[in-house]
Amino acid sequence: MNLLVATRSPGKAREIRDLLAGLPFEVMFPADAHLERLPEEDDLEQGTSYAENAVAKARYFAQRSGRPTVTDDSGLEVDALQGRPGVRSARWAGGGRGAAGADLDRRNNEKLLAALQEVPEAQRTARYRCVVAYLETPTAAPEIVEASCEGYILDAPRGTGGFGYDPLFFSTDLQMSFGEAAPGAKHRVSHRGRAFRALIEVLLRRVK
Ligand code: IMP
Repeated sequence: MNLLVATRSPGKAREIRDLLAGLPFEVMFPADAHLERLPEEDDLEQGTSYAENAVAKARYFAQRSGRPTVTDDSGLEVDALQGRPGVRSARWAGGGRGAAGADLDRRNNEKLLAALQEVPEAQRTARYRCVVAYLETPTAAPEIVEASCEGYILDAPRGTGGFGYDPLFFSTDLQMSFGEAAPGAKHRVSHRGRAFRALIEVLLRRVK
């Protein structure tokens, strides 16, 4: 089964490639399908929920590619910040359209530390959430799965693994930051690992 994983995030792509490895799917990313980045892609995430954004991205890429398409919309929810940055996690620190990469991650992390400066450890609880949408065709009803993982926000980065907010996210399950965790350990407990395992069950039922 052919599957377009419609993400331009290198961090997400690395993880999703691992999570789908060894399964009967021929996994492709936009570049493999010769889908160059277009400015209109910056307008896809206008929704107020992860699910809306995940489905909007999936419809767009399913249309462009003509392939069954999977998307991931995810974010970090900090209780002391009333769930922010949430669906705005990717570009929380600004940077304008198309902003991405290590510089944006660094500025997002600095903003998070500054926002929590006065907040004691016990009140720095947070979770990552991931919603995955699958569309067999551009007009099909979407399959949507969702998962989260709990932790708290450290007062300084630990480790250099993962991506995004990972050096600041202390995982309750692993008792270390996602920046310190080996990729396999993160996959076992992460929002993305859990959501993709649920999606894989759905897809395997369909191919049987
Ligand atoms: P989006 O799903 O493309 O809107 O962006 C998700 C954003 O949430 C990423 O750019 C990161 O800032 C953050 N995020 C989601 N999952 C993770 C993760 O596993 N590690 C670190 N940051 C994450």
